[in-house]
Amino acid sequence: MTAAVLAQLPTVASTWPRDAAGEFVVGGMALSRVVDSVGGTPCYLYDRERIGQRVRSLRQALPERVHLHYAIKANPMPALVAQMARWVDGLDVASAGELRTALDSGMSAARISFAGPAKRLEELRRAHAAGVLVNVESARELRLLADLSDAAGHPARVAIRANLPFELKASGMKMSGGARPFGVDAERVPALLAEIGVLGLAFEGFHLYAGSQNLRSEAIVEAQQRSFELALQWAAKAGSPLRSLNLGGGFGIPYHAGEAPLSLAPVLNNLAALAGELAREAPQAHLVIELGRYLVAEAGLYVCRVTERKVSRGQTFLMVDGGMHQHLAASGHFGQVVRKNYPVAVNRSAPATEVASVCGPLCTPMDVLADKAPLAPAEEGDLVVVFQSGAYGKTASPRDFLGHPEPLEALV
Ligand SMILES: *Cc1c(COP(=O)(O)O)cnc(C)c1O
Repeated sequence: MTAAVLAQLPTVASTWPRDAAGEFVVGGMALSRVVDSVGGTPCYLYDRERIGQRVRSLRQALPERVHLHYAIKANPMPALVAQMARWVDGLDVASAGELRTALDSGMSAARISFAGPAKRLEELRRAHAAGVLVNVESARELRLLADLSDAAGHPARVAIRANLPFELKASGMKMSGGARPFGVDAERVPALLAEIGVLGLAFEGFHLYAGSQNLRSEAIVEAQQRSFELALQWAAKAGSPLRSLNLGGGFGIPYHAGEAPLSLAPVLNNLAALAGELAREAPQAHLVIELGRYLVAEAGLYVCRVTERKVSRGQTFLMVDGGMHQHLAASGHFGQVVRKNYPVAVNRSAPATEVASVCGPLCTPMDVLADKAPLAPAEEGDLVVVFQSGAYGKTASPRDFLGHPEPLEALV
């Protein structure tokens, strides 16, 4: 294998622990044994202790005034959310279905918030009845919540989700700046604040989410600083004191060869400075950062099995029992502009001495889990692992497409 191919070897595959036989270890057990215990392939496996380490160390590094929330759309598996509820300060949901999962997890309604465009009346009714904080994204949502509050005799808890007047630079998914379907345009926030006062809703603060999957700490720091300044200006015009200021998140993880992990120290230092300023300016308020993939993605594996080894005109294909219908993101069709491989590896101790493509069972050229990746030589029956798969995997994939069975899922 050439030096160029070797240089592309994903670090996560080379650093994931292996046992003496060369198998990957998940939850303290050899991968093949975990797969047998789960019921076979294809499956998603989430390493509980890895998630715990990530969340606990981040929680410890954050000032008390900064609350760490988990955005459950990244991975809404109920067992995982219930585990997470014991480690984080709050949960963020984006649908009534996620709201149910969050409430079932044991997290108190006081620490759940609900954001999402196009909320239906029924969803607002459920959020208000449960007593969670609603991040309102339009004047329509405010009025519906006011009607529900009048009818029920208790005011809805609301924060304004604003469409910021700037973008999150270098972000994988931009969700603010310019014309957006998310939130209320920044210039309309003062009018909405006045309306909240008239309607008698319980105002708590602001939700400012600039974007996702960012690996550049300077960009995150800049967005958080500008969001903070804007929010304090708005808060001065609100009829009641600021209680909660959600500065978003967007912490990215390295998916592809050549990507370096996010440098967290500058972000943490900035949050500590902002928390100090908040303590002086709005003593009853706290900051929130809401993270999805950063907390769970790197602890998750998608595991499939080689059904056939095929050579076509000199190129090797490992045909596997999983594919894009279960892991859309790894196939390159979930937000990527240029398709790049996720880190993949064969569950064998042998070095990656051949180049092979990993393809699934769907009759479409899109069903590629890895394109010409450096891999250990694999045979029929071998397990193939796709790393960085703990977020936007199972529930972000078109699982009905072609009618194959559902992937299994376990927290180990
Ligand atoms: C999707 C989303 C998140 C989670 O994004 P990650 O990139 O997984 O951290 C958090 N908040 C909001 C409002 C979102 O839409």
